[in-house]
Amino acid sequence: MKTIIVGGGIGGISSALLASQRGEEVILFEAHENIGGCASWFKRGKFCFDVGATTVSGVDFNQPLGKIFKLIGKSPELTWQDPGIVFHLSNGKKLSYCCGFDAWMLELEKTFPHLTHRPFWEKVYKINSHAWELLDSVKSFPFKSIADFTEIFSRPDLFNLYPYLLVNTEMMLKIHGLHHPEYLELINGILLISAQAHAENVPFLIGAMALAYPRQTYAPQGGMRGFFDFLESACLDKGIRVKNKSRVTMIDNHKVFLNQDSHEYDQLILNVPCWNQAELFQGREKVILEKDLKEPKEAWGAFTLYFGIPSFTNELYQQVHLNHPEVSNYFISFSLPEDESRAPLGWQAVTISTHVNVETWFGVSSHDYRLKKQSIMNIIISDFKERFSIQEVKHLTAGTPKTFQDYTLRKNGYVGGLPFLYGMNPFSILSSETGLEKVFRVGDTIFPGQGLVGVAAGALALDYRIKKSTS
Ligand SMILES: Cc1cc2nc3c(=O)[nH]c(=O)nc-3n(C[C@H](O)[C@H](O)[C@H](O)COP(=O)(O)OP(=O)(O)OC[C@H]3O[C@@H](n4cnc5c(N)ncnc54)[C@H](O)[C@@H]3O)c2cc1C
Repeated sequence: MKTIIVGGGIGGISSALLASQRGEEVILFEAHENIGGCASWFKRGKFCFDVGATTVSGVDFNQPLGKIFKLIGKSPELTWQDPGIVFHLSNGKKLSYCCGFDAWMLELEKTFPHLTHRPFWEKVYKINSHAWELLDSVKSFPFKSIADFTEIFSRPDLFNLYPYLLVNTEMMLKIHGLHHPEYLELINGILLISAQAHAENVPFLIGAMALAYPRQTYAPQGGMRGFFDFLESACLDKGIRVKNKSRVTMIDNHKVFLNQDSHEYDQLILNVPCWNQAELFQGREKVILEKDLKEPKEAWGAFTLYFGIPSFTNELYQQVHLNHPEVSNYFISFSLPEDESRAPLGWQAVTISTHVNVETWFGVSSHDYRLKKQSIMNIIISDFKERFSIQEVKHLTAGTPKTFQDYTLRKNGYVGGLPFLYGMNPFSILSSETGLEKVFRVGDTIFPGQGLVGVAAGALALDYRIKKSTS
């Protein structure tokens, strides 16, 4: 079985490792000079910046990335962060999301002394741990057929989780007497980075997993470059051919076409966003893939900043709430202070990201585009410098949805994946099956979990589906 994978994001790399484990011969084509996609990196002077993703989670043995590491037989070097994330609220209060339950409750009680936090957060952690068990058992999710759906009966002990799909996270805050504007600002800040939506749009089953996420925040040694170098070398060890600078331009008649040559496949795995898939095909196959996108599928864009600063903090991940009309909040990732592969000694590499609406970045004049870019950059950088008393920044560079479109080829610069929203029909979620024979798909627009861990979960679900169909 010769398997070709299009795209070397975490979805393509995980799928390559799993395909090789199934005994298939694997070639992966990545358009860019590095693998990693939205979790890749670039160099400026002596600094190495993460382009998008900076944190790793879900690395326990029963969790998606942990399972991939088990398969490889080794793990990348990861530093656990406690606190996972530090929050700066718009009222000036600062609180640390500590990993220990009591320490986190103490922080919440100090910041919101008039509210009762424990019952809500006890529920969050209980549901989170059961939800991971559910994900581990119901392997055919997202469901393509009634037969897939019947898998939920394998765990009747977890039936009590399903009602939490019918309430949203905001309702649960109300039930627990926590529906307070400042509390909601904090909760929405966490949900936006982990579930890509706000409390009123996140079913509580997903919300609980998203709210527990900062407890499990790891910084990879060498940043995302270190993380993907590790995965690439694991691919090479398994005989997987990883071809960088190899953009697939067309797929037809069981062949993928690149600029110079073409390659036949028995099985194809697409690790490109759902919006990019149909355009690679012709005729009937194109029509089938376009049909899946009839419903509008919405996602976010990202505005990013990259720069170097004199080293000053061990609190690597911080979220700043401004409640500014142009920048509601921004997420800061500092490189590990002692990591000289990221920044010269005494310096740290910084990546900042904030969610933006992509529509406002396309179809505008280049003058308006530049003004908008400058304006958002000024809001963030002046707040950052003042907040942390920083005088000097090096290599300041900004990224917009256009930048993400250019470098990751993601249509309209949509990033961060498709969220699983409150009220959504679970059968409407795109499945890894495309409807084309032996053509599958993975990535953050397919599996409705978020980030690297969600994409790895999707790759494992596809592996299960392929094994089931061939056994
Ligand atoms: C600003 C930002 C911050 C984030 N922070 C985090 C975080 O801290 N933690 C976390 O877990 N997640 C985070 N995420 C989300 C995470 O980065 C993504 O969800 C994940 O990396 C997506 O992986 P993917 O494999 O689905 O797709 P991608 O990463 O988009 O990979 C697809 C790959 O396919 C390649 N490609 C596309 N078309 C072709 C073609 N025709 N031929 C060949 N190759 C092609 C692209 O170059 C790309 O490398 C963040 C995302 C952003 C944008």
